[in-house]
Amino acid sequence: MRCSYCLRPAIYLRKIAYCADHFESYFVGKVKRTIKRYALLCKTDKIVVACSGGKDSTVALELVSRIYRDVEAVAIDEGICGYREHTLDWLKKYCYSNQIPLRVYSFEKEFGFRLDNVKDKKRLCTCCGVLRRYLLNSKSKGFDKVVTGHNLDDEAQSIFMNLSKANVEALVRLGPMAGVVRDNKFVPRVKPLYMCLEKEDVVFAYLKGFEMPRPECPYASSSYRADVKAGLNELEASRPGTKENLVKSFLRVLPRLRADYRCSEEVKSCAVCGEPCRADVCASCNIVKFKNNRFL
Ligand code: SF4
Repeated sequence: MRCSYCLRPAIYLRKIAYCADHFESYFVGKVKRTIKRYALLCKTDKIVVACSGGKDSTVALELVSRIYRDVEAVAIDEGICGYREHTLDWLKKYCYSNQIPLRVYSFEKEFGFRLDNVKDKKRLCTCCGVLRRYLLNSKSKGFDKVVTGHNLDDEAQSIFMNLSKANVEALVRLGPMAGVVRDNKFVPRVKPLYMCLEKEDVVFAYLKGFEMPRPECPYASSSYRADVKAGLNELEASRPGTKENLVKSFLRVLPRLRADYRCSEEVKSCAVCGEPCRADVCASCNIVKFKNNRFL
C-alpha cells in the first residue's frame, strides 16, 4: 500500500493511505483544528497536562508542550500495585528528558489509603475516578486549563455508558471542554485529542518512539467500560465510522442539552473541604469519610 499523497510506503489507512510524514501532518492538524474549533487553549494559558504515563496522555503532553510555552504535567498515584509504579516511572523519565516540570500526588498521602485496599471492588472505578478528579482540580489551582488525554474512543464509550444508564447529569458534562458550569472554583478540563481515534494515538506514539510500559490496570477488565469498549470495537470493525458518528451526533445535541441543564446547576462549596460541589458535602469527602466502615 502506498501513501495517497507521495506514494511512499503507507503506515496507516483511513479513507486514504498515509506514510509516516503525512500521518503526522494529518494527526497534528486534527489536534490543532480541535483546539481551535472548540476554543480549548490559547497562547497565554498556563496549562497543566493530567498524565498517567500511558500513551494518550503522553501524546497530549508531547503535542501541547510543542505548541504552547507554559506547560507542566501532573500525575496521580492511586496506589495500584504492579501497574501505576511502572507507568509513573516512565512518565518521570519522559518529563525529565523533555524538561517538563512534573508533580505527582498520591491517594495514600492525600487520603490515607491506597486503591488496592478498597474492599468494595464493585465501586473501585467510581471511587478512583471521583478521587482522581478531585485531586486534579484541587491541585491545579493557578492554572488556566487542565489538558487530559481523552480520545474519540473514550468519549464514544462515555456517551454510550451514560445513555445506557440514563445518567443525563454525567452525559451533559462530556464534550471537548468538560463540565456545564464555568465557575472559577473549577479549572476547565479540555481534551485536544477529542477527535482522534485511539489507534491513531498508538500510531503517533509509535512514530515518536515512545517505549512506555503497557500494563493494564488490574481492575479494568471487570469494569462496565471494558464491556462497552469491546462492544463498540466490534461494531466499528463491522461498520467503520460508528464511533465517530456517535460522537458527532452527540456534539450536535450537546448545546441544547446543556442549555436545558444549566438552569438546575448550582455550584456550592463542600462543607468539609471547601472544594466545589453540587451537594452539601462533595463526593470525595463522602468516600473518604465513610472509608472506614464502607470501603476498607
Ligand atoms: Fe482507576 Fe478503574 Fe481506571 Fe483502574 S480501570 S485506573 S481502577 S478507573
